[in-house]
Amino acid sequence: MTVRTRFAPSPTGLLHIGGVRTALFSWAHARKNGGKFVLRIEDTDLERSTPESVKAILDGMHWVGIDYDEGPFYQMQRMDRYREAVKQLLASGHAYPCYMSKEELDAMRAEQEALGLKAKYDRRWRPEEGKVLPEPPAGVQPVLRFRTPLDGVVAWDDLVKGRIEIGNIELDDLIIARPDGTPTYNFCVVVDDWDMGITQVIRGDDHVNNTPRQIHIFNALGAAVPQFAHLPMIHNDQGQKLSKRRDAVSVVDYDSAGYLPEALLNYLARLGWGHGDDECFTMAQFVEWFDLKDVSASPSRFDKEKLLWLNAQHIKAADAARLAGLAKRFLDEKGLDLSHGPALVDVVALLKERVQTIVELATGAEYFYQPLTPSAEIVAKHLSSDDLARLSTFASEAAALEVWDTASISAFIKEFCKSQGVKMGQVGMPLRAKVCGTTHTPSVDAVLALLGKAEVLKRLA
Ligand code: GLU
Repeated sequence: MTVRTRFAPSPTGLLHIGGVRTALFSWAHARKNGGKFVLRIEDTDLERSTPESVKAILDGMHWVGIDYDEGPFYQMQRMDRYREAVKQLLASGHAYPCYMSKEELDAMRAEQEALGLKAKYDRRWRPEEGKVLPEPPAGVQPVLRFRTPLDGVVAWDDLVKGRIEIGNIELDDLIIARPDGTPTYNFCVVVDDWDMGITQVIRGDDHVNNTPRQIHIFNALGAAVPQFAHLPMIHNDQGQKLSKRRDAVSVVDYDSAGYLPEALLNYLARLGWGHGDDECFTMAQFVEWFDLKDVSASPSRFDKEKLLWLNAQHIKAADAARLAGLAKRFLDEKGLDLSHGPALVDVVALLKERVQTIVELATGAEYFYQPLTPSAEIVAKHLSSDDLARLSTFASEAAALEVWDTASISAFIKEFCKSQGVKMGQVGMPLRAKVCGTTHTPSVDAVLALLGKAEVLKRLA
């Protein structure tokens, strides 16, 4: 049987880190097994779903690079199909109309609570052999309820959590259609997973409670029950569930903070899954190694430092031309004119070994296009009158240099230090401070070579 998995976000906010991790594991399971990965937008909550959120999900998936083979399917476009499936259950006796009004429901609940019982539908409209049902009230549209078995258990072997068993007595007769005929959440999910031929439902473990109800609906529809894998939640560094308000959790935030999508995915892959001691890997390796049985059943902790470290590793491994394209956006935002100065790709090649984010890369590139103003601290430390006098001598001697590349500049600086009777740092740091405006640069000979002789001499003057 072909493996088919899906990611089924509700478009009620931005695409967040937890959602991406779910999508990633679901995608990896399909890719690993030569299967198909489906994207489904669960937009039936009309009050909370927005087109902006749909766009954020699609853009976010595109940015991280999780591709899908089918979809996006929209539940709101499948209403006729759900209505048809509701009819099927009504015809087979798995569903029945319930005419209880809101007032009656409230009164029943209040009574149960007063007795210290869990509030639960008392099945008063559930047809049973020999039971006489009340006369349906005139002009009332009923809800449709699912006829949950009264005894026995519903069980599944969760691919992450192991065997889970729930007594049917714990489950209510779930409402599957509202008075206006619109199907409810758990019902739509089952019809979709059935129609889309989903073989493994991989989702957050906040859905564990829905699974027994959904299994009953699968069985009632005569559909094959898929396997389930419930992924544990991600916690922040205080051990709290990651929240949209407290933590930076939207994928676009990582884009604007200068993270590479492959670093974020690498990091998310390690949240609750591992392959020996491997920390830094590509998505191709992840797919090759991925197995749901290696997913941990306990929550994992989001560690910003580790994500930053991984980002640095992926930046080192990335192609300089691509990184230059990514850094350009941040330099453009600062209004820098990149046509005056070295090719950005060369600057990036020099800097990429030493930065953790693309934002840092762009910041590090700034002084190649415009000298920075050194801080008072740098001036005090590296640009004393002695330093300036020495730089002036340096400039006039450097002007005579015929070859201007890293090797010849390096040799020249060494010679110069010797003739001045000073250490390398006593020339290197003032040179950086004067030419770049910062002392935080790669090796000074390489920086001067890239800036070009004319520009260096101009800045020294
Ligand atoms: N739409 C649900 C959510 O966003 C997921 C449902 C499912 O995966 O079954 O949490």
